[in-house]
Amino acid sequence: MVLQARTDLQATAEAENDPVTTTLESTGPEGAGPAATTDPGTTTDRGTTTDAREPGPVGAGPLRLVHVHAHPDDESSKGAASSARYAAEGVQVTVVTCTGGEAGSILNKKMDRPEIVENLIAVRRAEMAEAARIMGVDQVWLGFVDSGLPEGDPKPPLPPGCFALVPLEESTEALVRELRRLRPHVLTTYDESGGYPHPDHIRTHEVTVAAWDAVGDPARFPDAGPAWQPSKLYYHRSFSRARLIAMHDALQELGLESPYADHVKEWLDEAENEGADLSPDPDTLVTTRVPCGDFFEVRDRALIAHATQIDPDSGWFSVPLDVQRRTWPTEDFQLVDSLVPASAPEDDLFAGLRGPDA
Ligand SMILES: [Zn+2]
Repeated sequence: MVLQARTDLQATAEAENDPVTTTLESTGPEGAGPAATTDPGTTTDRGTTTDAREPGPVGAGPLRLVHVHAHPDDESSKGAASSARYAAEGVQVTVVTCTGGEAGSILNKKMDRPEIVENLIAVRRAEMAEAARIMGVDQVWLGFVDSGLPEGDPKPPLPPGCFALVPLEESTEALVRELRRLRPHVLTTYDESGGYPHPDHIRTHEVTVAAWDAVGDPARFPDAGPAWQPSKLYYHRSFSRARLIAMHDALQELGLESPYADHVKEWLDEAENEGADLSPDPDTLVTTRVPCGDFFEVRDRALIAHATQIDPDSGWFSVPLDVQRRTWPTEDFQLVDSLVPASAPEDDLFAGLRGPDA
């Protein structure tokens, strides 16, 4: 299947999508990584875009990849191993972090100390710099204030001035300015759900998609630098039930404890329960699996660098890396828009952008 352009992607948008039967199986054959998705089954409900957009040329310099994330640490929990792999291969990888993570609570008890709490913003900046260094990527702050995750019933209002409440035009212009400076060929973000319902994650999706539509149009945000159109837009799709079930099965076969046992049981129970309304597994939407098992260790070190946010003894790190490499050696993405010819399945975010010698 050729995803020549946005219209083709839309044509596949209604691809069948049986959430129960297609998600409760490990699609990754042992030793060979996850099976290729042959139909992207995309949901390209991204609204209208301007036509006749010309993607920025690849030229003689490095390929460039920009990930847009909500908070410091998101870049290390989503797409970090592939970021490290691309950086090692000479791709210029930049993480744009929309907020400073000011509202992030200290999730690692060992770091819950007064001197850390009092200087949390500075500490999180230093953690971010270290994570970027470990992955070999550049990182920039977009400068907005963390909205926090409202909890309770009813939920409290968002704090005034936070990222999720900044008018979309304003935050979009800030991202457009960065993108016109960085001139990426590939852009990634979260889907419309944000991956999880944090207002900053949902806003990051909205801002990135709005910027994708505006950044190549010189009539939009004319004060934000010369227009530059990235070629491909992806959503992160690595957090899938299929992946966790594959890990769970692999651990069980080895007689090891699975941190996913409760989740898997819950899903199986729901699937057996007639009328269960499981949402589609993100894995059914994957178009692109990037092999990056050799960089899982780098990914983990980058995540651990966010010491206030992650406990190195937590379940994040409980699956041995060799099991992960054998079971699911990729990070997965969904191509949602492309201005260059692209075929699904892919194994490279830059497919269609590399010269014949690449
Ligand atoms: Zn986040």
